[in-house]
Amino acid sequence: MAGTAAAVQELDGNQRAALDACVVAALALSSSEGEAQGRMRLLMECHGRYVRSFGVVEQASSYEAFARRLRGGRVADLLPGRPRGSFLGELRLLDDDGMPSSALHRLALEATEHGHQAPGIGGDIRHLHSLLRAVGMLPVSTGLSRISGETVQHAVFRALRAAGFEAYTSGREAMVRTPVLTRRELSRNTALVELGAYTGISPTRQFAGQWAACPMCNWTMRATYRPNGVVDLDCEDERHSLLGARYRAEPTAEGWRLAPRGELRAVPEPLPVEGYVALPYPLWLWVTLPGLLEVELRDRLVILGAQVRLWPFGDAYDLDVVRPRPSRVWRVDVKTWADPYGLAQKLREEPEGPGELCFVVPEHLRGYLPLLRRVVRGSGARVLTDADLVAEVKKA
Ligand SMILES: [Zn+2]
Repeated sequence: MAGTAAAVQELDGNQRAALDACVVAALALSSSEGEAQGRMRLLMECHGRYVRSFGVVEQASSYEAFARRLRGGRVADLLPGRPRGSFLGELRLLDDDGMPSSALHRLALEATEHGHQAPGIGGDIRHLHSLLRAVGMLPVSTGLSRISGETVQHAVFRALRAAGFEAYTSGREAMVRTPVLTRRELSRNTALVELGAYTGISPTRQFAGQWAACPMCNWTMRATYRPNGVVDLDCEDERHSLLGARYRAEPTAEGWRLAPRGELRAVPEPLPVEGYVALPYPLWLWVTLPGLLEVELRDRLVILGAQVRLWPFGDAYDLDVVRPRPSRVWRVDVKTWADPYGLAQKLREEPEGPGELCFVVPEHLRGYLPLLRRVVRGSGARVLTDADLVAEVKKA
């Protein structure tokens, strides 16, 4: 899903408009939030936009067929001209039971201009818009549009830096390590309070007034009510979910009990929604997730006796690693893109040129090292995995 924004750009205007309508309609169909009447109105509006996107040459489906085909249907088959060859076309918005797919929320953010209207995720998107407005990154007069990760990171980091370097580092680290906080903990971090990044826990990630944290990223897992009254909890990150961050919550006489649905045996404790605040989906996606490997690397290197500074000099690179006696320095830039070809493109675009830097990719991307090394060849930069770097610092 790393190249969503780029894949959306490859669609023509009508296909983008149709995708926008489909994503918002799928969110309305799969949500039980708010009044049924309001959701119906939104669905009709989406269908109207969908029909218009087909123009006069091609015939769009009737409302009934539209709503039916959103379930289990591939994106390519829903769009005018049926675009082929993009991974976007292969995605499904809803599964056969009408439950949201793991791609749906991400598409609401990166592939629509109307995502803020949708139930559930819409609240998170509106929160982000008001944050961007408050830090001067979204002029009041401009319309709401698709949001890019770069814009959001730039806005958030710039606002934090304005509070001083110390506040920047600690605020950014808190957003990575603790994407959910108690209101009391939040009140102790002035820079974060002023940034206004945290908000109430989204209804899409609550069950019976409770929430549970993903053991890998500590963020609130998505709660999906099943017809039999049990609730499926999944981390929104597909990789975390595949690695076992998925549970089933069942009501019992002693309250709700969680059981694993995957390999991971550690079961998180359900916590009350009251008293907690969380990052909205876009900030978890673009600040927490990419930062996880950075803070974990720092912890592992510090244990080895290295001096490590996170995000030195603003955002030039991610970690400054110094191993004293014999003295050796690593400047490390962590790249966590799931899509190695997108990553290769990114390495090529490094504004300063990649010289002397160590690009570190997660161990599960080891197979792509030859490709990535070809990209930086001749620049003086190196590409290694996190395990390689730790081994290298240990040996030095
Ligand atoms: Zn997670």
